[in-house]
Amino acid sequence: MVENLKARGTGVMLPHGGLPEVLPPYLVKLISETGGPEGPIGLQFVARPTLELSQYDYKESDPLLEDFNEVSPGLVYKYRAGKDSEGHSYAGRALFTITRNCAAYCRYCTRGREVGIPANQQGELSGTLSHTPHLSKEQIDQSLEFIRNEYGLNEVILSGGDPLTVRPEVLSYVTEKLGEMQREGKLSIVRIGTRVPIHNPLLIKEAHFEALKKLRNPRFMIHANHILELTPEALSVLQRLRKDCNGVVMSQTVLLKGVNDNVEVLYNLFTKWAEEGFIPYYVFQNDAVSWAKHFTVPIQDAISLWQKMRPRLSGVAATARFVIDVESGYGKVAVPEAGAWNIIFSDGFRDFKGTRFDLGVAE
Ligand code: SF4
Repeated sequence: MVENLKARGTGVMLPHGGLPEVLPPYLVKLISETGGPEGPIGLQFVARPTLELSQYDYKESDPLLEDFNEVSPGLVYKYRAGKDSEGHSYAGRALFTITRNCAAYCRYCTRGREVGIPANQQGELSGTLSHTPHLSKEQIDQSLEFIRNEYGLNEVILSGGDPLTVRPEVLSYVTEKLGEMQREGKLSIVRIGTRVPIHNPLLIKEAHFEALKKLRNPRFMIHANHILELTPEALSVLQRLRKDCNGVVMSQTVLLKGVNDNVEVLYNLFTKWAEEGFIPYYVFQNDAVSWAKHFTVPIQDAISLWQKMRPRLSGVAATARFVIDVESGYGKVAVPEAGAWNIIFSDGFRDFKGTRFDLGVAE
């Protein structure tokens, strides 16, 4: 055990009041057993205040333009329903954050501008609509009403702050209403993005499973970055989400320097996911939030790492795609895999629509 590993709470927050250091006892133990603050788990959660502050620039803190697309309290509707150039319709999907709290705070969090800010520190810097740690019942109802009435919106992603940190009765209220909309044919898919099974699986009680059972075929998007996070306690929660809640458990991983920028680590992680019956889904290049620049793996290295790892994986573990969430709210662009294309970095790359993105890299 690492001696004296204690969360410093709000003492190490960023200047806008976000990302306190919170470490549940479960996580303290895991960090202690896996190399301490400099180990692959510790690096993700133990603040490095001097380094973070030296890189801090608030102007860059909403790279995906989520605040700009907030249509109702906590509801970001960026990927809207529409028609393509041939007149074929496609559905829209919205992100619904009912809380800004998480069970622990990842130092590289793309929503670090708004998560973990105590109620008494909400201010102008917190976005276009005032952000509260938890939405009130009226605000939840307002957003549920928007979902119900918005033509073409048929998928909702409940995500971070972490929806499994709210009181189970609040979660149950939301899942009940979303489940109702699924049964009525208004909503097709509900995803739950959570890191609680990794941060603190002991927090998840029967009441949470009961609440989640109200959804039809929920997709659980589990953010995990290292095989050491998949402890027996975490795996037991994930198995119950799969079996008791009839859920599909899928993984999301952020590529982080010093944590998992290594072929062996990623190979072991995806192989474990597949072995446990879960689906590796996304690996993200980390978003450009200023205070977390030290976690960024240069894009050439990231692509080369992905190309080395991809051919080693079994097909059922290779369902993960390496994507970049392009700035300015455009969306995710998948990186070609396994050297199938000859990448000319100075020419950027194109997504499935043929749109070209400059990676800002000279050959
Ligand atoms: S759990 Fe998600 S929303 Fe919460 S701090 Fe980590 S990355 Fe951010």
